[in-house]
Amino acid sequence: MFRVLKFGGSSVASATNISRVLDLVGQEAAKGRVILVSSAISGCTDTLLQLAEGNPEGLEPLRERHRDIVRRLFTGVERRSVLERMDALFEEMLKAPDAEKVTYGEIFSTTLLAAKLEADGYRTQWLDSRRLVIKDKPALTYRNIAGAVAENSADIFVAPGFICGTAEGGVSTLGRGGSDYSAALYAAALQADSLQIWTDVPGIMTANPKQVSHARTIPEMTYGDALQMASHGAKVLYAPTVAPAMEAGIAIEIKNTFNPDGGKTVICGSARPSGTVGIASRKMDSIVEVCLVGSNAVAEAESALALAGIAPLRIWEEEGNVLLTVRPAVEIPALRALHRTFFETLPVSQVNLFVAGYGTVGKELVRMVGETASAVTLRTGKALRVVGIANSRHYSIDLGGNPGTPSEEGDYIDAVCALAPKGSVFIDCTDSETLYQRYPQLFAAGLNVVSSNRRSFAVPYVTYASLHAAARENGAFFRYETTVGAALPILESISRGANSLDEVLSIEAVVSCTLNQILGDYRPGGESFAALVRKAQEAGLTEPDPRLDLGGRDALRKLLILAREAGVRLEEEDVQVVPVIPAAMFDVPLDRFYEDLEAFEASFANATRAAEAQGFRRRFVASLEKTEEGGFRAGIGLRNVAPVHPAYHLRGTENAIIVRSAFHPYPLVIQGPGEGAREAASSILNDILR
Ligand code: ASP
Ligand code: MG
Repeated sequence: MFRVLKFGGSSVASATNISRVLDLVGQEAAKGRVILVSSAISGCTDTLLQLAEGNPEGLEPLRERHRDIVRRLFTGVERRSVLERMDALFEEMLKAPDAEKVTYGEIFSTTLLAAKLEADGYRTQWLDSRRLVIKDKPALTYRNIAGAVAENSADIFVAPGFICGTAEGGVSTLGRGGSDYSAALYAAALQADSLQIWTDVPGIMTANPKQVSHARTIPEMTYGDALQMASHGAKVLYAPTVAPAMEAGIAIEIKNTFNPDGGKTVICGSARPSGTVGIASRKMDSIVEVCLVGSNAVAEAESALALAGIAPLRIWEEEGNVLLTVRPAVEIPALRALHRTFFETLPVSQVNLFVAGYGTVGKELVRMVGETASAVTLRTGKALRVVGIANSRHYSIDLGGNPGTPSEEGDYIDAVCALAPKGSVFIDCTDSETLYQRYPQLFAAGLNVVSSNRRSFAVPYVTYASLHAAARENGAFFRYETTVGAALPILESISRGANSLDEVLSIEAVVSCTLNQILGDYRPGGESFAALVRKAQEAGLTEPDPRLDLGGRDALRKLLILAREAGVRLEEEDVQVVPVIPAAMFDVPLDRFYEDLEAFEASFANATRAAEAQGFRRRFVASLEKTEEGGFRAGIGLRNVAPVHPAYHLRGTENAIIVRSAFHPYPLVIQGPGEGAREAASSILNDILR
């Protein structure tokens, strides 16, 4: 019985590679008679084609490569005689008509291989494919091959791939990459029980591994799928190879010469497993055609490309494949994007979200979750789904992911606890000062909590600690990065330091968006401080009563959160708050307050002028500082900052936070946008995903 082994150009590209090939041939020869079909050494066919076109540049290097292989494979008399034969073959090639020059590459390589096998003691016979394989005449080809082999008792036959004769008695080729086809013809002619195509990749892969590094071997595929892959551009197999093997019922094995025991593909007749088989691509004129073999998911392919910012020129379905065209410049990113979507899909875990508070931030969050869903799934393997929404009066829950407008009456938290799948996330985007009291119930029901509601944190340290304890006991997470500086990664940075036992020496937080905006805009002699406060109030930048901002209430909440995140048990009464305005202004009605504030203008302008005269700017700073005795001093109030201070340069509602710690001589500074619905939603989203 016969075993047909075909080796490609890179498998025989050097003496080292050829030794590998000969080892594999030796192993197979122990199991049966071998037909060894070989390509020309890599690059040879191209060089011969150039030579035929009058460009002799590659000729001498090519001759030298062959000589070098001979010198390395043979010794003594054999070396001399094989060198002479190679030289003679090169001369013959040079004299041959230009159209026939290209056929010599396989003659060179197989002459070498046959001589080496002979020298190694195998009964070897070189077969002249030009006489046996007749182009477009399979029946005649089969008869020729069977006849040539029948009259010979050799153990190993060596046959050039690619080249053939014509019915008219001339010499021709089977087309670029045609050696695979030669091997299939030999196998079919001899009813071989094994047909092995040895190449430089581990079988047919989900994409070309030279273009897509995550490509992986397809262990088994049907003749039909192999034909689709090959005819749409997968170079690993020459498309015409499939037919003779399929007709003769011979499985095609595609293996890697450089890792024989690694991945391989077996092409045989078994039923096709459903789904996408692989991705092939080919250049056609000035565009690239990509084929998703075995897929009909046009929309999915389109959105995979859209995520990579690619719009195909055309996309359509044809004969059970998705086809699309792109410009050559985006071929590789397109292949990678498609491969990621169709072959690298991680096991996706569903995360259900219950949103409480359906104001600006809640709405923006729901919108953002919808908009980013597929990108987030690709990046993280998590599929986020909003399943519950509540405003202050009503709620709505739909585990299918379409909660709609809140309309249900009753207790949202009780409903969430009863319905939520384990691992769901409850998101507090409310302004409620009491909702935090329900967090332990949520934790106990298996929910995690993400909050943007800082009112929940102006609580005694024990309460804060007990919330964390409840989360821990139930294996839940409790995150609230949004409560300070919106999307700025402030709390995360502080707790990272605390986790690694870095000791915080001081924190300066310039985190009042309202006051940063007002103080930044204020010029003595320009618009009055009162006017700017009123403007900020009208723009919704202040609390309903702006005195809560001017009095430092908002900054106080943030400072409590910051300190506790750093491991400091700070209480509200430990913080010395110096309001921006005199104490008496807090006890009057709002209208009267604005009048008083106008009256306060002169003193405010003077203080500002005095600071500016010394090169300072006034900023509202919350600070925490370690004292010599080992305790902490905390304060909130207006401070004069010099140009070297990061807060000096803040623009608009920007925030800055400066953390000094024991490990480093220089502080950690985080500065950037501290406000905005989009920032808040993005921060919540990241708390969910972290
Ligand atoms: N040597 C030929 C080519 O480069 C045939 C083959 O390698 O299959 O196209
Ligand atoms: Mg090939």
